[in-house]
Amino acid sequence: MNFYKRFQTRKINIGDVVIGGGSPIRVQSMTNTDSRDWRSTLKQIRQLEEIGCELVRVSFPDMESTSNISKIKKHIKIPLIADVHFDYRIALETIKQGIDKLRINPGNIGSQDKVKILVKEAKKVGIPIRIGVNAGSLKEIYNFSDNSLKAKALVDAAMRHVRILERHNFLDIVVSLKASNIDVTVQAYKLFASKRNYPLHLGITEAGSIFGGTIKSSVGLGIILHEELGDTIRISLTANPIEEVRVAYYILQSMMLRNSGVEIISCPTCSRCKFNLIKIVSEVEKRIFIMKNLRKLVKPIRIALMGCIVNGPGEAKDADFGIAGGSNNIGILFKKGIIVGSVVHNEWVDKIISILKNVANSQE
Ligand code: SF4
Repeated sequence: MNFYKRFQTRKINIGDVVIGGGSPIRVQSMTNTDSRDWRSTLKQIRQLEEIGCELVRVSFPDMESTSNISKIKKHIKIPLIADVHFDYRIALETIKQGIDKLRINPGNIGSQDKVKILVKEAKKVGIPIRIGVNAGSLKEIYNFSDNSLKAKALVDAAMRHVRILERHNFLDIVVSLKASNIDVTVQAYKLFASKRNYPLHLGITEAGSIFGGTIKSSVGLGIILHEELGDTIRISLTANPIEEVRVAYYILQSMMLRNSGVEIISCPTCSRCKFNLIKIVSEVEKRIFIMKNLRKLVKPIRIALMGCIVNGPGEAKDADFGIAGGSNNIGILFKKGIIVGSVVHNEWVDKIISILKNVANSQE
């Protein structure tokens, strides 16, 4: 069951993925290969697909980079979003080659005639356009020291682009308002949502490394999601984009915004723990993440991995099942707080994974 109500945005199709209007919040990532090297780009998209990425964005900086989009499209299942800056001819070429969504700011591409042509082609093939305003590239923002004025500058910039598309009667719009400052980003999304109901793509830009960026993104996106806003999310990390997808799912899962998956409850360990629980939890987490059918679980599962029998089963009694460390290298297996068996420590990972596989099979 979803915990938070959602702000009702306009429903939009990106390929066969629906966003907005109460649809699940979708996980997006972006490739970091050279898009002129289409084979590497395809390889990375397929890796992202494998681990559950639902929308993938690729930047196409020049005409050469667009030349193999249709080949990439043939080999992937998730929608492809083209990120294009300024040049409407590149954008037109990406549309021609079958992209599913375009990220471009119409106010940056020049004359109204160019916008008209672009909008006409996007409408013809039924693809949405994302307007993406980024604080780093908005000079006006440096005129203000106050965060609310910076947020307003971001929204004003987005609204300039939005109005251009609206004048052309183009309403399949997605908007992002990214800053690396959390307060500015939160205020900008809230302000925009008071003006329009277009779906919102969320992100804290230039968030940083896996560790720092995950924390910053979790805090920032957590606040925005708690405000009932957000239809797609991307975690910007200076890392392999696979990590972005992992973090995105953990954020959504921790806020009960996705109805599927496995939640791991584990204790911080203390002197009562007589074995390497940290290693076991990390191994279980890795194995779970690559199990595709677990992401599709209709009913989420909560598993517990606890360091000792003294407090473990009690503290984790909400878990569907779990293991707690016991004496003589043997842990106890419990279900909803009730002991149902035992497992030696070096078999915990396999035991947990085999139970999860059975649960996943039973839900298929
Ligand atoms: S469950 Fe046991 S080992 Fe883990 S923190 Fe609590 S008391 Fe310590």
